[in-house]
Amino acid sequence: MKTKREIGWAEMKILFHDTFYESDYADDCASVPGRLEAIMAVIGSESTFEILRHQPASEDAVRLAHTQTYVDAVKSNGPLFDMAMLAAGAAIAAADVAMTGEPAFACLRPPGHHAYRGFGWGYCVFSNMAIALLQLKQQGKIGSAFVLDFDAHTGDGTKDVLSDWKECLILNPYAGDSEAYIKEIHNFIKSIPAVDIVGVCAGFDSYHKDVGRKLTTFDFYRMGVLMKQFAQRAAHHRRFAILEGGYYLPDLGKNVLAFCQGFQ
Ligand SMILES: [Zn+2]
Repeated sequence: MKTKREIGWAEMKILFHDTFYESDYADDCASVPGRLEAIMAVIGSESTFEILRHQPASEDAVRLAHTQTYVDAVKSNGPLFDMAMLAAGAAIAAADVAMTGEPAFACLRPPGHHAYRGFGWGYCVFSNMAIALLQLKQQGKIGSAFVLDFDAHTGDGTKDVLSDWKECLILNPYAGDSEAYIKEIHNFIKSIPAVDIVGVCAGFDSYHKDVGRKLTTFDFYRMGVLMKQFAQRAAHHRRFAILEGGYYLPDLGKNVLAFCQGFQ
């Protein structure tokens, strides 16, 4: 009999903490009340998903991606700092799960892909993806990575923080319609023979009813499948995703679910 892993099935781990429901740490589109509730109401009851708790990131981990001056500046706003440390911790925990070959999705806020080494903008505070990858790299567990960022907006902060790491490949697809968008991802990854881990900056504002006005729910599923298959072929099954944007609340939960179902 084949194992679950041999048939390509793996249980999805969801990194989440009830603290993420608090919405008064900031006043922006990512911190609006009801946003994470919209996601957890759908994926939280999925029987094949397991919800895991995590710890906040350490300051040492955050300093792998950010300057001390910036970390200290964020720290002057206690509620924002605490939430951002918890978000970075969720990304780190998701990456740790991925190293075991199980898929993971971190349902977190504030998002991180607009956070540069020395500042953050666009609702982002710390570069959650970069912190998670740099911690694994520092621990000697990975030497290379691939990051897909399908948010409607370019992950300029992730690019900034990871710019010195030549073995980390980052794709922000830009194609204007959904077929070309999926094809762009397919064409990019087919030329990559191997990487040590696959990370996805999952921004659901690229949805056709959200600000990006482009992708469908089925496209999020297809990208999940693409990243799963790529990780199985080229990255020892190692894959994790973290939440970035996504502001059309009526469909946000089903879009996250579609991605996760493809990814697992
Ligand atoms: Zn965005």
